[in-house]
Amino acid sequence: MVKGKSIFTRAVHAGERGPRPDFEPVSTPIYSTVGYRYASMEDLDRIFGNEREGYVYARYGSPTNSALEEALAAMEEGEAAISFGSGMAAVYAALLGAGVKNGTSLVAAYDIYGATYSICARLLPDMGVKVQFVDVTDLEGLGKTLSENKPVAVILETISNPLMKVADVPTICTMAHRVGGKVIVDNTFATPFLFQPLKHGADYSVHSTTKYIGGHGDVLGGAIICSQEKRAKLHEIIKMTGGNLGPFEAWLTHRGIKTLPVRMRQHCSNAGQVARWLESNPRIGRVNYPGIPSHPQHEVAKKLFPEGLFGGMISFEIKEATKEQVFRFMEALEMIIPATTLGDVYSLVLYPPMSSHRALSPEERAKVGISDRLVRLSVGIEEASEIIEDLERALEKSSKIRG
Ligand code: PLP
Repeated sequence: MVKGKSIFTRAVHAGERGPRPDFEPVSTPIYSTVGYRYASMEDLDRIFGNEREGYVYARYGSPTNSALEEALAAMEEGEAAISFGSGMAAVYAALLGAGVKNGTSLVAAYDIYGATYSICARLLPDMGVKVQFVDVTDLEGLGKTLSENKPVAVILETISNPLMKVADVPTICTMAHRVGGKVIVDNTFATPFLFQPLKHGADYSVHSTTKYIGGHGDVLGGAIICSQEKRAKLHEIIKMTGGNLGPFEAWLTHRGIKTLPVRMRQHCSNAGQVARWLESNPRIGRVNYPGIPSHPQHEVAKKLFPEGLFGGMISFEIKEATKEQVFRFMEALEMIIPATTLGDVYSLVLYPPMSSHRALSPEERAKVGISDRLVRLSVGIEEASEIIEDLERALEKSSKIRG
């Protein structure tokens, strides 16, 4: 096609649009293209008109993203999934998809990821949405709020960030549906390995795939798993508003899924050991981990999750510590990384008042139960005894610094 053409034309077109290979790649390639060419313009017209499947433009979808979305839906045995450029883009799209708009009412768990809280506490009220925050573990209070407000949607996390409260999702779905509300469950902490919200009545299962699904701390992304019908509405939203996941990020995320169950087994086993050790340590106050009997929703967690598996996330308070003392503890860790993320293969610690829940005022944090002594630990897949050793060493060292 470029033979005999000028160097300008050869430079632009050579090597592209060759004959289709007769092999099938084992792993879905990264389709790093914005546009797609079809032999017939009628085909392109039909795809634009949703009369046949295909790809026309990267914001509308790509084969790499479709492969990821098929895998995500399969993980939770949902009908469909749609990927986003970040977890927050997915959370926001789910709210729009569920019908949250001017004049409607939304019920949100107040113990929820900081940016989700900010959407609910600041962005949505400015847009004319009435938002009621509730403790979703108080089913009686929730029932009252639902019948008084008749919300279009309820948003909550299966395991909450950062206090690890466990929501009784099946019961909450029944209650919300009774008043006509859709249920959006952020399933990031539980992952599809522990829990599949749609099977328990949820309308949207949202993930920050940046976390366990990607799993290696190298890719930002988000996803919603839902029915085909709801996906079609979300697809119209993403076509208008963007927020897409790029094909390279989709490919990395898809690769992460392949080892999710194997990693989760190790995360859960390690976290159980670390939580029990923390509970027995005299320097540690409250330990929040759904797998220990002292956890207020331990029975709910046992009902929702497969036997003996309670996730990889823990939070705990260092007894009588100030913010500065918590900082010294975090700096004294040698293997565990103080970094603003979770769900990676690495063990990570975070100080919620400084990062994930910084946007909340001190009063809001106090109301939610996030104290200045609280540390969030994402237990990695290293050797459990070596994670414990690092925690012990850092607690010992930081206690000496305190004098
Ligand atoms: N949901 C939960 C539970 C999270 O912890 C986070 C981020 O930490 C998000 C949503 C937002 O995800 P992202 O950072 O991918 O936008």
